[in-house]
Amino acid sequence: MKENLNPFAIAQAQLDEAAEVLQLDPDMHAFLREPMREFHFTIPVRMDDGTTRTFQGFRVQYNDARGPAKGGIRFHPDETIDTVRALAAWMTWKTAVSDIPLGGGKGGVICNPREMSQDELERLSRGYMRNIARYVGITQDVPAPDVHTNPRIMAWMLDEYETITGKREPGVITGKPLELGGSAGRTPATAMGGLFTIREAAKLKGLDLNGATAAIQGYGNVGSYAHILGQKEFGIKVVAVSDEFGGIYNTNGLDCDVILDHQRKTGKVINCPGTENITNSELLELEVDILIPGAIENQLTSQNANNVKAKIVAELANGPTTPEADNILNDKGIYIIPDFLCNAGGVIVSYFEMVQNGYQYYWDESMVHDRLDRKITTAFHAVHQMSQTKNVDTRVAAYLVAVNRVAEAVRLRGWV
Ligand code: NAD
Repeated sequence: MKENLNPFAIAQAQLDEAAEVLQLDPDMHAFLREPMREFHFTIPVRMDDGTTRTFQGFRVQYNDARGPAKGGIRFHPDETIDTVRALAAWMTWKTAVSDIPLGGGKGGVICNPREMSQDELERLSRGYMRNIARYVGITQDVPAPDVHTNPRIMAWMLDEYETITGKREPGVITGKPLELGGSAGRTPATAMGGLFTIREAAKLKGLDLNGATAAIQGYGNVGSYAHILGQKEFGIKVVAVSDEFGGIYNTNGLDCDVILDHQRKTGKVINCPGTENITNSELLELEVDILIPGAIENQLTSQNANNVKAKIVAELANGPTTPEADNILNDKGIYIIPDFLCNAGGVIVSYFEMVQNGYQYYWDESMVHDRLDRKITTAFHAVHQMSQTKNVDTRVAAYLVAVNRVAEAVRLRGWV
């Protein structure tokens, strides 16, 4: 049978497996399988050449039983409503496993930001916010950046929202520039959180991180910071990195400052002097201690999972592993740090950003990282302990922890 790569079908299949282990009430299971609310809209944008292009936008509020929906907005040519639904579901489990008082949501626009000018992107971002302004807010739904969106885009969206409401309400969106109420430590937070979970997994595997080898797929926010912090804070030897154009490898390790400089100049990581070009597929199958998929969905599948040689797979990307690949990796004894645990650092610090915005009192980066460490390390051990107690793999264990918490909030509210 052909592997189903629809991300929402995968998210539902993962929930189904957890529901079975939990013996979840069928009515609750049916409720948690679907998004509570979704918005589909068109965004007409005046292009620089005077024409108007109509873009398709989505916002999904998957579940807000534990608090306002929370989740990023992705600008991508391959965006689909099912990708947004899956990401919104994973956000629900992510905020729950991290035990922060938020629900799950996600947004997206089908567009190619690489082909748009800054002015066009600004008009698109403001148009997106005009469509959802009525449905978001600090008590309803709080967006953030995701693939191809960044603090600058968050600033435009915040300004549009505040122009519509006539109030200053920085907590309505996170991942903002520091000058507009962003949190210290937010930009590297996802990678930092992932590295804290890698540290804990390494202890369980008896692996010394200092000098351990790693390969990182994706060299955007998450991948590049995983390289910088992995190398500088944890002594990890990163031997391969990649982006959508391909990867590079050096058995002696890649210096992050050199790669970043090369990427800044050329827009890609390939052809960096002193390295060997490799493909993305080759990167995933390298003999390394830690493999970090940090780009997009469905990278580890039934086609290549057997060839993965890493001891730890740390899923900084959302949905990089299909259920079939999951089974193969688990059978091989590879320790998977599942996506919605591994990459929860971003939303944890987004939550800290909302807290700071509420008080208008700001913390320094070391306090942010200390608190992130405590939160995500607690989550890691809750999941690990669940996997031991129930004798299930780490992804199912993460679902058990998260689904239990969401289901309890739904029950207490009397929805199901
Ligand atoms: P980004 O846009 O900054 O970077 C994405 C990177 O992936 C780029 O280097 C791009 O070239 C690369 N890429 C795209 N397609 C690829 C392909 N087919 N093969 C290899 N590389 C490819 O995005 P990001 O914020 O770094 O997000 C990366 C992943 O992490 C996504 O799955 C995202 O949902 C997840 N994530 C991000 C955050 C965050 O705070 N930024 C938080 C949680 C999860």
